[in-house]
Amino acid sequence: MNDYNLRSLNEKELEAAVEDLGEKKFRAKQLFSWVHEKNAVDFDEMSNLSLKFREKLAAEYNLGESRISARQISQDGTEKYLLELGDGEAVECVLMRYRGDFSKKRNTLCISSQVGCAMGCSFCATAQGGLVRNLTCGEIVGQVYEVNHLLQQEGAEKVDNIVFMGMGEPMLNWDNVLKAIKLLNAKDGQNIGIRRMSLSTCGIADKIKELAECDLDITLAISLHAATDEKRSQIMPVNKRYPLGVLMEACRYYQKKTKKRITFEYALIKGVNDNPGEVMEIKRLLNDLDAHVNLIPVNPVANTKNIFRPSQKSVKDFAKMLKKAGVNCSIREEKGADIDGACGQLRGKLHKNQLSG
Ligand code: SAH
Repeated sequence: MNDYNLRSLNEKELEAAVEDLGEKKFRAKQLFSWVHEKNAVDFDEMSNLSLKFREKLAAEYNLGESRISARQISQDGTEKYLLELGDGEAVECVLMRYRGDFSKKRNTLCISSQVGCAMGCSFCATAQGGLVRNLTCGEIVGQVYEVNHLLQQEGAEKVDNIVFMGMGEPMLNWDNVLKAIKLLNAKDGQNIGIRRMSLSTCGIADKIKELAECDLDITLAISLHAATDEKRSQIMPVNKRYPLGVLMEACRYYQKKTKKRITFEYALIKGVNDNPGEVMEIKRLLNDLDAHVNLIPVNPVANTKNIFRPSQKSVKDFAKMLKKAGVNCSIREEKGADIDGACGQLRGKLHKNQLSG
């Protein structure tokens, strides 16, 4: 597939594109700023580029075809956006504004890396339709650019924190995700610090080792959700390919290389992974790591079997037991529950409406 989206191009590639169009190389810096810093959506905005150059650019390239086609605003200030892509597919991203006394003030955008997902986790809405395709690099960064464009128009504060925890498995679209991380980090682009980015994976062990070699200060989150192979394979088919022994070995390797704490996400599912016996399994598994466990009461999703949220009390009890066992943990603050909190739900609804309409 040819990609004519300028948002997919880094500084070097923009230089080559500019020279190809017969313009001076230094113009690439100006173009980079319009594309990656100022989130331009129209070539006419590029006031310091000649009309002729803009016309040549517009004839060969575009500024991304992703556009926000739905927006839901939660009572707690969380916003969910549906982005329609050039081919009619759609992904979603969620803006979470943290203003609490206990958390630093930040605007976190949770972004997607694929349309759909091939991983088949039993509790996840995105898994239900399988994988449609990878997002291009321009489509990945485009989520941030489109949301920021809108926020700027409204005079609101921009996104300053990114989590790759939306739809898809980022480590299975690795080249595009890695390029997107670097573009979002670029000083003369969005300038979002790498330390303000997190990436969540269901556990692609080979790629975790690759990431360890990248010298990137990004926070790694592992979707654990169960601490024995038998249970994890039941709810996460990826565990058959990368069982816990292999996954934990990759995590130890990552930590040895990067010295960074690893987050482990654990969605509590009633009667599946929330009984006290699991606490000791988690402790055993994470014993020799610097780890933090994020407990998430599972979000109920339509068309899933046996996926129910435990009571608030049993979530708190589970956290207490983990802490008593010496495992660092917290219960994730729930955001946007009234706007289809669980991943994949908004897109699911849009598709259903289209089918019935
Ligand atoms: N594929 C990556 C990132 C996308 S999912 C991964 O697996 O980590 C982001 C997080 O949301 C993952 O931890 C995932 O397991 C979790 N998640 C998915 N569906 C959920 C649900 N219904 N309730 C709670 N967490 C869910």
